[in-house]
Amino acid sequence: MARLGSWIESHPEGIYVRPADAWIDPSQPKQRAWITHGHGDHARGGHGAVLATPETLAIMECRYGPQSGQPIAYDETIQVGDVEVRYVPAGHVLGSAQIVMEYKGERIVVSGDYKRRPDPTCACFVPVPCDIFITEATFGLPVFRHPDTGSEIDRLLHRLHSDPDRCVLVGAYALGKAQRIICELRERGHHDTIYFHGAIERLNQLYESFGILLGDLRHTGGATKQEMAGHIVICPPGALNDRWSRRLPDPVTAMASGWMRIRQRARQRNVELPLVISDHADWDELTMTIRELEPTEVWITHGREEALKHWCMTHQIKACELNLVGYEDEDD
Ligand SMILES: [Zn+2]
Ligand SMILES: [Zn+2]
Repeated sequence: MARLGSWIESHPEGIYVRPADAWIDPSQPKQRAWITHGHGDHARGGHGAVLATPETLAIMECRYGPQSGQPIAYDETIQVGDVEVRYVPAGHVLGSAQIVMEYKGERIVVSGDYKRRPDPTCACFVPVPCDIFITEATFGLPVFRHPDTGSEIDRLLHRLHSDPDRCVLVGAYALGKAQRIICELRERGHHDTIYFHGAIERLNQLYESFGILLGDLRHTGGATKQEMAGHIVICPPGALNDRWSRRLPDPVTAMASGWMRIRQRARQRNVELPLVISDHADWDELTMTIRELEPTEVWITHGREEALKHWCMTHQIKACELNLVGYEDEDD
């Protein structure tokens, strides 16, 4: 075979796997789509046949209605055209997968979004050594080093307990981050009622239907200010500064995101308590993963490609960036 990975094409609307006639996370409707995970910028509606984990298919059905989906379990191998395909855990959100493809003796892994830290709501990232690693680089700058999750959760609890007349309102992405924050709080011994904004109710239920138990949750709709004082309230980031929050007892505004490392981002959203909790790999996780997989080439998608490209080159790994459009970085 000529160039490594010559059977994979990068187009603005996604990665095209030619011998399988399939697209990975395409931003336009395609006849055959392989979807890494349920976030809206990766899993769009309107495709013909969708190959995804059962959890991702359920998330897509929750969003877009019935899918002509084929579920693929972690570690199951299927043949599409001349390509062997396997989905392995990516540790990003419930059901998130890396896509491992083998064709004519070459192995290519598409990471999708991923992280290496433990997350009580999803299976841990599984490293698969490969010839080409196609990686995300959302936090691909050395300045991004996420702190320990437990200590961020402790800061949240400390703030909550220091002012029992107020509530702490935590902005968290509706798919994944919200449920993870709830589970991390439970693991830290916080078993009080947690209140939630209606926009995350269906995803909470979906997580519970896959056995991720979230404990005592209540909709803010039926609660009085008095009941919510001294409690945590979870809402999507967009609701943080919304009229809706006026029904809450003098909320302390918090937000859980890798971007909270940047003070300006916290200020933009009037966030009083920034919590640096991310569902993406930080700089150390990105470079550790590349070290571990020992790929011949690294292809870099949505994020800050330059620094990671440079790091690869100084470690004798060929690297290039793929200019895909339509990926956002809000699902952090
Ligand atoms: Zn994502
Ligand atoms: Zn993404």
